[in-house]
Amino acid sequence: MKSKLFGSSGVRGLVNVDLTPVLVAKIGLAISTFSRAEKILVGRDTRVSGLMVENALVSGLLAGGVKVNCLGVVPTPVLAYLTRQLEADAGVMITASHNPPQYNGIKIFNGEGVAYNEESQDEIESIVENESFRLADWRNIGEASFIDESCLYTEMIRKNMRLTRKWHVIVDLGCGATCYIAPVLFGNLGCKVTAINAQPDGFFPGRSPEPNSESLKSLAKIVEDLGGDIGVAYDGDGDRVAFVDEDGCFVDFDRVLAAYAACVVKRNSGGAVVTNVEASICVERMVEACGGKVVRTRVGDVYVAEAMKRCDAVFGGEPCGAWIHPRFHFCPDGILSSVLLLKALEDEDKMLSEFLSEVPKYQIVRENVACKNEVKHKVMEKVDGGLRVLFPSCRQVSMVDGVRLSLEDGWILVRASGTEPFIRLTVEGESLKAAEEIMEKGVMFVRGLVGEVGR
Ligand code: MG
Repeated sequence: MKSKLFGSSGVRGLVNVDLTPVLVAKIGLAISTFSRAEKILVGRDTRVSGLMVENALVSGLLAGGVKVNCLGVVPTPVLAYLTRQLEADAGVMITASHNPPQYNGIKIFNGEGVAYNEESQDEIESIVENESFRLADWRNIGEASFIDESCLYTEMIRKNMRLTRKWHVIVDLGCGATCYIAPVLFGNLGCKVTAINAQPDGFFPGRSPEPNSESLKSLAKIVEDLGGDIGVAYDGDGDRVAFVDEDGCFVDFDRVLAAYAACVVKRNSGGAVVTNVEASICVERMVEACGGKVVRTRVGDVYVAEAMKRCDAVFGGEPCGAWIHPRFHFCPDGILSSVLLLKALEDEDKMLSEFLSEVPKYQIVRENVACKNEVKHKVMEKVDGGLRVLFPSCRQVSMVDGVRLSLEDGWILVRASGTEPFIRLTVEGESLKAAEEIMEKGVMFVRGLVGEVGR
């Protein structure tokens, strides 16, 4: 099976191995061919290869006759927001998000600032494959210029948000795309700001571009040592956010998602919240208690955004820290999420640890079983029936993404990874012991299937 160019979040690859300037120029041409755009915005994160990829991409777009506005280094949500605001026909972000520095990638947004869905990505892919490009006549080759309009984004936040407390925010920018915007914005909102890893650097020398409990250890220590009110951290391109509470403890992604979702539902006196199949059931517990309902989608922010539009949701988010606020736009937005969380804490008159105190603590365990890409789908075909036999007490089966069984004391999800040669298992239980018992059965079962199909 030929591997696909686009994964669940655009094109990703090792620079000059998978993602060469030749391929990128072709993607640029394919984007102009498919979109028939007159104007396209281009942004990038701080990766070393950013300018190389940008030049190749812009070359392809210009050859297709597109007028290109380059924004330079901006967070992904800023690119998406400006695409709609400046009435461009599309926006292209050059980023590999939270991947290591040797990677880069391309994520495309439509004129509404919503990420291209699977069908649009497939079309681009087939244009690249067949090289069926629409090249402009020499007289109509596009023009490129640099513009700096990030202030439109910060103005939008400042106009809509007023903070009354003088928060001491310790913000870890991870040397990524949020460096230029986030510290200034917090300052403008009246916060005392201490910024770390605040210099743009594509080698990501301070920490991994993926914010998690491991990579945010120094942030947690600094919040504790300086007595900060909250720690905030973003991924490489600023569409994800992670938090550290006032005691210097890393905050569980699922629990803060659930608490914030419940807060939005309460404010709206109900409404739908969208999350993916991997999120904890604490999201349902919190949202339903406030009179809202939860809609589950496949893993990937594109699916969450599409479902949010469909059911007119009040909030949506994935447990990796990608939160979508439909009042503002439909791109996950780390900076906006952190400001909105501060606002919610003010409204509830709580510090972060208190804000989370009502969210039930369940235990989630995750495991990967190695499985060749070629046979992943064969294995998945057999998972459904077998899993039901393995867990006869199963109450409900969901096939939104892989197979997810609701059990008496938790749930199990088995799905094929969209990007790597793995079958991924996620289990949640009311205790760690319960979760581990379910996981052990699940892993044995999937390993057996992989062995059977592989033979
Ligand atoms: Mg990201």
